[in-house]
Amino acid sequence: MRIYNTMSREKEELESMHPGQVRIYVCGPTVYNFIHVGNARPLCVFDTMRRYLTYTGMDVLFVSNVTDIDDKLINKAKDQGVSVQEVARTFEKEYLRDADGLNVLRPTVMPRATEHIDEIIALIRDIVDKGFGYQSENGDVYFRAKKFPEYGKLSHLVLEELENNRELSAGLDGGLKEDAADFAVWKAAKPDEPAWDSPWGKGRPGWHIECSAMAKKHLGATFDIHAGGQDLIFPHHENEIAQSECANGQTFARYWMHNGFLNIDDRKMSKSLGNFFTVRQIAEEMGYEPIRYFMLSAHYRSPLNFTMDILKQCQASLERLYTCRENLDFALENAGETGNSDLLTKAEEHEARFREKMDDDLNTADALAAVFDLVRDINTLAAETDRQALQKTAEIFDALCEVLGLLYNRKSEEIPVEITELAQQRTKARQEKNWALADELRDQLDNQGYVVEDTPAGPKISKK
Ligand code: AMP
Ligand code: ZN
Repeated sequence: MRIYNTMSREKEELESMHPGQVRIYVCGPTVYNFIHVGNARPLCVFDTMRRYLTYTGMDVLFVSNVTDIDDKLINKAKDQGVSVQEVARTFEKEYLRDADGLNVLRPTVMPRATEHIDEIIALIRDIVDKGFGYQSENGDVYFRAKKFPEYGKLSHLVLEELENNRELSAGLDGGLKEDAADFAVWKAAKPDEPAWDSPWGKGRPGWHIECSAMAKKHLGATFDIHAGGQDLIFPHHENEIAQSECANGQTFARYWMHNGFLNIDDRKMSKSLGNFFTVRQIAEEMGYEPIRYFMLSAHYRSPLNFTMDILKQCQASLERLYTCRENLDFALENAGETGNSDLLTKAEEHEARFREKMDDDLNTADALAAVFDLVRDINTLAAETDRQALQKTAEIFDALCEVLGLLYNRKSEEIPVEITELAQQRTKARQEKNWALADELRDQLDNQGYVVEDTPAGPKISKK
């Protein structure tokens, strides 16, 4: 598989460090509120990456954290008169409810920052011991960005540009920092805020150091893929690299993947701009699955514009997938040993194209097109296909949907045995041209809430 590496700005062949296993770290949410539709993009995209790697036979170690301490959480807790932990645990649950709804697999490990304070302190200690960190008068500990010669290598910004960067306009933090590019790894305790003991006094970790420490603990000092939204490239990921590579003396992540923005009226959907819909709001109206479909309908690095109309189109496309799956079930129930296997040949071609597209930097948009080509062929050829070929085609269809994480709301519309028996008696009556009995059996089925339809492939029973 080739993936676009933000570091090299090129598509590169993905070669994992450990044979047969890929290790991925995806920056998770700060759990102070419901997630919005923009936040659902990295969730769905990198879950699909994980599913695809699994489908190709790789074992995936997937770590995605939860930031459960920071200014936003502290402010929310103050506003609501509850503890920071209470806010964090409440919204962590809501986040997981949405992630489950979107059919995002739970991470192999979901570390919480507040449960890794020892690892964070150990990393800061290494940074300070090696001369990359210093404590300011107020007790904060900062990272000396300019001391790391490669600072800026991910965002491709040079330090002079960085100094003019909006993100750094906070300047010298009232004289606490030696240089505007420096950033906090440890923040001295303020009254009424959660704080932990450390060699630098009571305080709490900075945001960037959390990910450096948790990735190291769960994936090792060097691992395969680090991912997140494009807005994390600078400063978050740049700072993670500086901290980790200076402390550990080795490459941090080998591949960097970033999803493009989900926009609304051509502007990034964000909490701060106020132009957002929560995933929950949309799911209550349309269900979760169209949101997931929508995220996969474009290439993950392209901008994606959100409207309710597009979401409705996604819902309609999903309906086509569900209908096709029902058609497959029905054809399977009625398939015989005779028939041809043209459909299977086509299905294998579509699967090969699906893989080719996914191998090309996770092109889910074109992979979906391959699935719809398969849908078209199933709908036209299923009735003339033999049972074995149909069975294999169904397996291919299900496997591709599983990779995309779609079609997870299939109703298990089990037809009770007595209903199937009634329908079979009716078919027999019809074959014997006993129309009166056939009609009576149809009425019986009708009274029990089932309709039977005579199709070229045989009788089709469904609930009214
Ligand atoms: P945050 O809670 O803001 O740190 O965001 C959690 C994840 O969602 C990060 O990977 C962000 O990059 C990503 N994200 C936030 N807003 C958007 C957006 N509008 N489009 C795509 N990704 C986003
Ligand atoms: Zn992170």
